[in-house]
Amino acid sequence: MTFATFHCPACGRVYTADRPLWRCDCGGHLNLAAGRGMARGDIVAGENSLWRYAAALASRGPPRISLGEGWTPLVMRDWQGANILFKLESQMPTGSFKDRGTAVMINHLIEVGVGAIHEDSSGNAGASIATYAAACGLPCRIYVPADAPRGKLVQIAVAGADVRRIPGSRQAVADAAIAASEESFYASHNWQPFFIEGTKTLAFELWEQLGFRIPDNILVPTGYGSNILGLERGFDELERSGAIKGRPRLFAVQAANCAAVAAAWSAGRDEFVPFPSRPTIADGIASPRPVRIAEVLGALRRSKGGVIAVAEEEIAPALIALGQLGLFVEPTAAAAGAALTRMLGDGTIEPRQTTVVVLTGSGLKAADRIGELLETKSAPSEHK
Ligand SMILES: [Zn+2]
Repeated sequence: MTFATFHCPACGRVYTADRPLWRCDCGGHLNLAAGRGMARGDIVAGENSLWRYAAALASRGPPRISLGEGWTPLVMRDWQGANILFKLESQMPTGSFKDRGTAVMINHLIEVGVGAIHEDSSGNAGASIATYAAACGLPCRIYVPADAPRGKLVQIAVAGADVRRIPGSRQAVADAAIAASEESFYASHNWQPFFIEGTKTLAFELWEQLGFRIPDNILVPTGYGSNILGLERGFDELERSGAIKGRPRLFAVQAANCAAVAAAWSAGRDEFVPFPSRPTIADGIASPRPVRIAEVLGALRRSKGGVIAVAEEEIAPALIALGQLGLFVEPTAAAAGAALTRMLGDGTIEPRQTTVVVLTGSGLKAADRIGELLETKSAPSEHK
């Protein structure tokens, strides 16, 4: 099979993906050319992982490393009288949706001969990349915010990666990783187009698990937007193959305290606009400067969906409500439950529609912080 092709949306330059590359010479990000499409006959039915869709992936050969990522449960639960489908991306090998992108990205990088790698992450992507690097023997260094949840730091450390805690903003962590790109390969889940090639399999899975139909609405906790971009890419390939007609509405859910996509959306802009940022309990979606924000905004508009920014005080009740349905998730994922409550309430989503809520990360990732939320909730009123 031939190598895939990257192109730069900023300057139009084209590259053959035959060596590790993380950005264009002009400094812009790179995207993969349109995929070859996906149809029912392409599915490897006996393969209970995302590799059942290998025929649609830009990888050259079969995977060199897999930890069984993908093919996660889709379960129906009652939410305010509506039947809602929850996609349990929290049940991936490392407990978050990131494994979908990491597995495909790491396999591509091995194919083209990568050596030592490094990455910056608020936690989940770092844990995912450290784990897959360990599984295939690549030296790995992860730059994390100094206040990243302990569970995520432990997960990175136990995989044997070199953990570098960076004080300051999330952007300071990203800057430290970019500054290190002369020392080792910057295997950034936010820059690598092959990460989105992996997340596109979420679209294929929803389509297959719904009996080869598409839902009406999909709610996704969104920071840099790799699931939004992956979903658009996946549904696009299904539509071009004639497997589906129409598209689901995609809704990006953000924490109002750090909401780059919401700020641009409400300003009616299709590019980044400066916005005030504060800390949020939804640490996984606190992304001050999403690399592909223009593409994320475009994908949301094309799908006729939108952006919902939820307040801190909406997140904890949603997390507890999810937990009492048997869905133990981290606060970042619970933000989607908070958005669902609001959208059912204001009629944006109707109970008769098919709605999928993507639960991106396990509650085990942030058990300490969830414990603090519970203590605050159950404290006697005179102590408040
Ligand atoms: Zn360029």
